[in-house]
Amino acid sequence: MISKKSTNNPAPFTAADFEAALTRQWQHFGLQKAADMTTYQWWLAVCGAINEQLLAQRAANKLTAATGTGRHVNYLSLEFLVGRLTMNNLISLDWFPVVEATLQQYGHSLTDLLEQEVDPGLGNGGLGRLAACFLDAMAALSQPATGYGLSYQYGLFRQSFLNGEQQEAPDDWHSEHYPWMTRRLDFSVPVGFGGEVALDAEGRQYWKPALTVQGEAHDLPIIGYHNQVVQTLRLWHASHPTPLDLQKFNDGHYLHAVEAGVTASKLSKVLYPSDNHQAGKELRLMQQYFHCACSIADILRRHLAAGRSLLSLPEHEVIQLNDTHPTIAIPELMRVLLDDHQMCWEDAWSICTRLFAYTNHTLLPEALECWPQDLVATLLPRHFYIIDEIDRRFMALAQQQWPDNERVWPKIAVIYDGQIRMANLCVVTCFAINGVAQLHSDLVKSDLFPEYNTLWPQKFHNVTNGITPRRWLKQCNPALASLLDETLKVDWARDLDTLRDLEPFASKANFRHRYRDIKLANKQRLADYVWQTQGIKLDPNAIFDVQIKRLHEYKRQHLNLLQIIARYQQLRAQPNLDVPARVYLFAAKAAPGYHLAKNIILAINKVAERINNDPFVNDKLKVVFLPDYRVSLAELLIPAADVSEQISTAGKEASGTGNMKLAMNGAITVGTLDGANVEISEQVGTDNLFIFGHTVEQVKALLAAGYNPHDYYRQDPRLKAALDELMSGYYTPDEPQALQPLWHSLLEGGDPYLVLADFDAYWYAQQQVDALYQQPEEWLRRCILNTSRTGMFSADRSIRDYQQQIWQPQA
Ligand SMILES: *Cc1c(COP(=O)(O)O)cnc(C)c1O
Repeated sequence: MISKKSTNNPAPFTAADFEAALTRQWQHFGLQKAADMTTYQWWLAVCGAINEQLLAQRAANKLTAATGTGRHVNYLSLEFLVGRLTMNNLISLDWFPVVEATLQQYGHSLTDLLEQEVDPGLGNGGLGRLAACFLDAMAALSQPATGYGLSYQYGLFRQSFLNGEQQEAPDDWHSEHYPWMTRRLDFSVPVGFGGEVALDAEGRQYWKPALTVQGEAHDLPIIGYHNQVVQTLRLWHASHPTPLDLQKFNDGHYLHAVEAGVTASKLSKVLYPSDNHQAGKELRLMQQYFHCACSIADILRRHLAAGRSLLSLPEHEVIQLNDTHPTIAIPELMRVLLDDHQMCWEDAWSICTRLFAYTNHTLLPEALECWPQDLVATLLPRHFYIIDEIDRRFMALAQQQWPDNERVWPKIAVIYDGQIRMANLCVVTCFAINGVAQLHSDLVKSDLFPEYNTLWPQKFHNVTNGITPRRWLKQCNPALASLLDETLKVDWARDLDTLRDLEPFASKANFRHRYRDIKLANKQRLADYVWQTQGIKLDPNAIFDVQIKRLHEYKRQHLNLLQIIARYQQLRAQPNLDVPARVYLFAAKAAPGYHLAKNIILAINKVAERINNDPFVNDKLKVVFLPDYRVSLAELLIPAADVSEQISTAGKEASGTGNMKLAMNGAITVGTLDGANVEISEQVGTDNLFIFGHTVEQVKALLAAGYNPHDYYRQDPRLKAALDELMSGYYTPDEPQALQPLWHSLLEGGDPYLVLADFDAYWYAQQQVDALYQQPEEWLRRCILNTSRTGMFSADRSIRDYQQQIWQPQA
C-alpha cells in the first residue's frame, strides 16, 4: 500500500519559517505591519513567502530535480495553460495546513486569498492544458523533464459579452510581478533573424543574420506531488541586447533609436488566439523560431556542461514536440551541429533522428501547418537550405520505395508547391509519432500518413491523453477528495487506478448519499457564483448540463443549441410535461477572427436571454453562457456538472480532455464515438454514458454518398421548427438577420460538420438523460461508477506510456 505522505511533511516548513518570510514580504512593500497590506498584497506576500522557502530548499537540495536513469525529456510547446499555481503548489508541497493556520491568525482565509490570483493564460485550450498536465505528471513520477515555452506578456484574451457578442480585451496577466516567476539573469541566448548565408574560408555555409535578439529565461517551478521533486518550466522572453541604439540616439534620431528593441519585444508580446487553426503570420513563425532557438541552445548548454559529447546527445535527451508548432527546432539543431560544431551531415542527421519525437494533435486540414518557402528563406535562409536538403535526401528514398508511383511523391514531399509542410518534416525526421487517443492514432496512420506508415510502421504509436488528478480532482473537488481519502485510505492521487476500489460502494445507499450531497454542494457553489456574476438564479436540483471547451464548429455547440430550442418549443406546447428541470451551461472563447464561431456565441446568448426571461418555462429550463472560460472557471464548473456534453463530429476531436475531467468528477457523458470518448465508453461501460450519432465510418459513407442537410431539414419536423424559429428573428427582434450566418452554414453552406444528420439521435439521447435522472439512486450509482472507472485517464498513465513506448534510448 502507498503510504499517506501528507502526514510526515517531507520538506519541513514550519509556521515560524512562514511568518518570518511573510514579514520580509511586507517590509519589502515598505509597510509597518502585516495589517497594512491590501488583499492583493496579502496574496503577493503569501506567494512570495512560499516561493522564497521553495528556492531556499532547492538551494539546500531538500527539493531537487528528478534524477533518473532514463532520458531527460524536453517538452517543447508554444502553449502551457498552467492555471493558477498557488493552491497547486501548496498541495504538492503539503504546506497548505501550515499556511492556512498561520493566515487564520491574521484573520485571513487562504481559500479566499487565492481568488486574487489571475490565471496565467498562456495557452488556448486542450493542447496547452495537456502540456501543463504532463509537466505535473512527470514531476510526480520523478521523470527528469524541462518544459520549454514562451513568456507571453499578454495571454489569451479576456472575454466578455456586449449585447450577446464576444468582446476581447488584452490579458495583461502581470508577468512582471508574478511571484512564482524567477528571472534567470545568469544566462541569455542570442537569436538571429533574416540576413544571408555566406561561405567561410573552407567553403562551408554559415548564417549572417541581419537582426539579433536576446532570449531571457523566466522560470516557473513544477512541483512533484509529495515527492520533494521540483523541475522547471522555462519560458523565453524576447529583448534586444541594446534596446537603445546609442549611435542613432546621439545622431538625433530619437525614435529610430528604439526600433530594434521594439521588434524584439513584439516577439513574446502576445499568444496567437487560434485553436485548431493555423495562424499563417510572419510574426508567428518568428515566435516559433525564437522559442526553438532558445530551447535548443539551452538543451545543448546543459548537455555540454555535464561534460558530455554532442554525439551522445540522444542517449541522454529526448525532445518531444507538442504538435508541429516547434518543428523549426529540427533544422535549428542541424544548423548548430553543422555550422557551429562542424559536424558532418550524416552525424548531425543521425542525432536528430534519434532525438526528436512528434505528437500529432489534429487531422483538421486547416490546422496542419504550412509555411511559404519564400517566407522561410527570407527569415531563416540557412534553415531553408537545410530543410531543402532534408527534402532532397528523403525524396531520393521515396523514389526508390515507389519508383513506379509518381503520384505518391507530391503527397509525402516536405516542400511542395512553394510550401513547407511542417508535419511531413516531423514524420521524416522523428523516431516516434503519436496520436492522442486510440481512434485518432488509427486515423493518423490510415488517413493522414498512410504512405509514411507503409515506409516506417514502427514509428507510429498511440498515447491516449490524460489529466492530472491533483488539479482536476483533489484541488477542484476538495469534498469528493476527502470522501475518497476516507473511503480508499490511500493517497489515490498518486495512483489513480486505486479509484477502482470505489466500485463496491456504488451499491451502498449510505455512500451514494454522501456522494450526492457533495455534488449538490458543488452545484450550490456554482449557483452562488452565477447569481453573483450574472444575476441569474439557478436551482441546484436541476440537471446541470455543461458544454465547456473552445468554440468551434467541429465541437458543435450549435447542435446543443438546436436541441435546446426544440426543448423550449416542446415546453411551450406542453407546459405540464414531466421532465426534470435542466440548466444548460456553456463556456467558450472563439478565436477573434472566426466569425461563424462568434455568431454561434451570439445565438446561444440570444436564446439564453429569451428563455431566461420566459417565466412560463423557467422552472424547467435555463441557459447560462459564462464569459471568459479559463482553467479557474473549469475548476468551478466541472465538480458541479451532472451531464458532460462531448458531441463533436466523429473523427474531428483528436482526444479531448474535458471529457475526462468531467467523467472523473461524476458527470454522465452524452457523446459521439470520437476521440477519447471511445475509450471512456470502454472504461465506464456503455450503460454508464449516452453514446449517439454517426460513427467515423458512417460519417465517411454519408459524405461519400453526397450529404444534403436539406433532406434532414425537410424530413424532421422537430429540427425544422427549431431551425425556422432560429431564422425567424424570434430571438433577435432588434436585428432579425443577426443569426443568418449560422443558419446559412447549416443549410446552404452544406453543414460541413453534420449537425443536422446527428440531431435526431442527439434528441433521443437527451430523452434518456431525462428518464435516468428521474431514478435518482440509479443516476447516482452510474456517476460513482464513472469516478471509479476513469483511473486510466490520469496523466501519470499517459507519461508511463510515453516512457515505455517512446522515451527509451534509440539504438
Ligand atoms: C481541459 C481544458 C480544455 C480542453 O477541453 P476539451 O473539452 O477537451 O476541448 C480547454 N480549456 C481549458 C481551460 C481546459 O481546462
